[in-house]
Amino acid sequence: RSQELSQARIDYHVALQALQEQGTRMVCTGKMHTDRICRFDYLCYSSEAEEFVFFQSNFSTMLPNLGSRRFQPALLDLSSVEDHNTQYFNFLELPVAALKFMPKPVFVPDATLILNRFNPDNLMHIFHDDLLPAFYTMKQYSDLDGEARLVFMEGWGEGPYFDLYRLLSSKQPLLKEHLKNFGKLMCFTKSYVGLSKMTTWYQYGFVQPQGPKANVLVSGNEIRQGTVENENKGEANDQYVVIFSRSTTRLILNEAEVVMAIVQELQMRVVTVSLEEQSFPSIIQVIRGASILVSMHGAQLITSLFLPRGAVVVELFPFAVNPEHYTPYKTLASLPGMDLHYISWRNTKEENTVTYPDRPWEQGGIIHLEKEDQKKILKSKEVPRHLCCRNPEWLFRIYQDTLVDIPSFIELLKEAMKTKLNLRKVKATSTVHPGRVREAQCQTSVQTTKEAKLSVSWQIPWNLKYLKVREVKYEVWIQEQGENTYMPYILPQQNYTFSENIKPFTTYLVWVRCIFNKNLLGPFADVLTCRT
Ligand code: UDP
Repeated sequence: RSQELSQARIDYHVALQALQEQGTRMVCTGKMHTDRICRFDYLCYSSEAEEFVFFQSNFSTMLPNLGSRRFQPALLDLSSVEDHNTQYFNFLELPVAALKFMPKPVFVPDATLILNRFNPDNLMHIFHDDLLPAFYTMKQYSDLDGEARLVFMEGWGEGPYFDLYRLLSSKQPLLKEHLKNFGKLMCFTKSYVGLSKMTTWYQYGFVQPQGPKANVLVSGNEIRQGTVENENKGEANDQYVVIFSRSTTRLILNEAEVVMAIVQELQMRVVTVSLEEQSFPSIIQVIRGASILVSMHGAQLITSLFLPRGAVVVELFPFAVNPEHYTPYKTLASLPGMDLHYISWRNTKEENTVTYPDRPWEQGGIIHLEKEDQKKILKSKEVPRHLCCRNPEWLFRIYQDTLVDIPSFIELLKEAMKTKLNLRKVKATSTVHPGRVREAQCQTSVQTTKEAKLSVSWQIPWNLKYLKVREVKYEVWIQEQGENTYMPYILPQQNYTFSENIKPFTTYLVWVRCIFNKNLLGPFADVLTCRT
C-alpha cells in the first residue's frame, strides 16, 4: 500500500517545506459541531498516537478558532449521526518545530474525505448514514471528485458491503487499520473531515424514541440521483412482486403460501430475493423493475430506494410491534418526490408468532432477565416506546418469526393496488414554485362613516408566463395594523375589492402570494400598507 502513495504526484520536498513553513490550515463551515465540515491543508495523522495532528506555525489558520471550546464536546461529528459521543472528531496540536524530532511524514497527494461509517454491517445504516451523505459531501466540494480518497476512521473492518463504498471513487478506500502501513506520521495534502447530514431522514432514538428527523431537508429526487437511477423497466404487461426474505432471523414462516396467494389473487409474478442467496447488484436489478416490494421490517428494506416511481412498499411487522413507532422505510417512501406508496401490515394474532426467549440478548433473548421482567414482556401486547439500542422487550419482539395471515395481507395489498393508480396520476405534476406577484398595489375609499373599500391588485409572477400550470390562485392576507390576527382569502383573479370587515380611517397591512396547483406556495410580495 505504501507503494500506492509513493507514486505521489507531488514533490516531497516542496510538500515538506510547505508543512514546515505554513503548518496546518483549517477552514470550516457550520456554527455548531453538528453541522460542521472542515477543509484542511496538511492535516496529519500519527498512527502511534492514533490521533490527528494540527501543526501550528505563525501562518496556520484555524477557523473557527474555538480555543478550548473545541472540546465541548468536539470540533465536529465524524459520522452523519448527529451528536453521537462515539463519533466525535478532534485533533492534537503541536508546534511545527516538533517535526524536527518526529519521523519523516508520508504525504497523501489525493484530495481525501475523512469520515466514520456508523454501522457498516447493516445495509440500512450503510445507505442512510454513509453512502448518501458521502455522495453529497463529495458533490458539495469539487476537490472531492471521482478520484478522491476516502478514509474510514471508525475502526471497523471492511464489512460485508465494502464494494458499495468503492463505488464512491476510483481509489481504494482506506480503513483506520491501514493507516499505520503508511508509517508513523502521514499528512493529507488536502482533506475534508466530516459528512453532510442534509440527506438523512431518520434518527435512531439515542435521546428520544426513534422517528423521522425533525427537519427533513431531502426530497426523493436527490435520493434517487444518489442511486444512479436507471430507466424504469416496469412495463404494464410485466408487473411483478418482489418478496425480500430474510433467511436467519425475523422470518416469514409461510413464505410459499404468501407467494401462492399473491400469484392467485393479484395475478402477478413473484420473485423472491435474499441477501444470503443473491449478489447485491443482482437484487438491485430486480428491484429496479418491481411494482411491489414485500418484506419484513429490516435493513434490507433500504433497497426500496431503488424501486421505480409508483411502486408499492409493503412492510411487515411482527406481533406487538407498532408500525408507527419504527418508520425509517415509511419515511423514506413518503419523501416528496420518492413517489412510492407505502403500507404496513402487522401481525395481530399472537398464535401466529414464534418467539426466541433462549437466544442471546442481542437477538432478542430474555432468559438472562429476572423472572418478573420476563413475565411482563411475555404478557405485553405492544412494545412501549423506548430508546435505542438495548431494550430487551423491543429486541424480543422484533426478532420473532411470523406466520403471515393471508386474508388480511391480501386485502391490504388489493387496497394498495387501487390507491396506487391514483398515485400514478399525481406523478406528472411539476414542483416549480411560483415567483413573487409583481406590482402589488392597493386603493382605498371611504363610503360612509362605517363602510370602506379596499381594492388590491397585482401582476402574475414572472416565471408563470413560461409555465403550464393547471391551477393558479392567489392568497391575500389582510391584517388591521396593531391586531395580531389576519383574514386570509384565496382568489382566482389578480384583483379584488374587499368591503366586508373593512373600516374607514384604518390602516391595513396586505400580503399577496401566488399558489400553483393548490399546494405549491410562492413567497409573499412586500407588504402593502393601505389606509382607508
Ligand atoms: N440480514 C439478512 N438476513 C437475515 C437477517 C439479517 O440479510 O436473516 C441482514 C439485514 O438486512 C442487515 C443485517 O443483516 O443488513 C443486520 O440485520 P439485523 O437484524 O441486525 O438489523 P435490521 O435488519 O433489524 O436493521
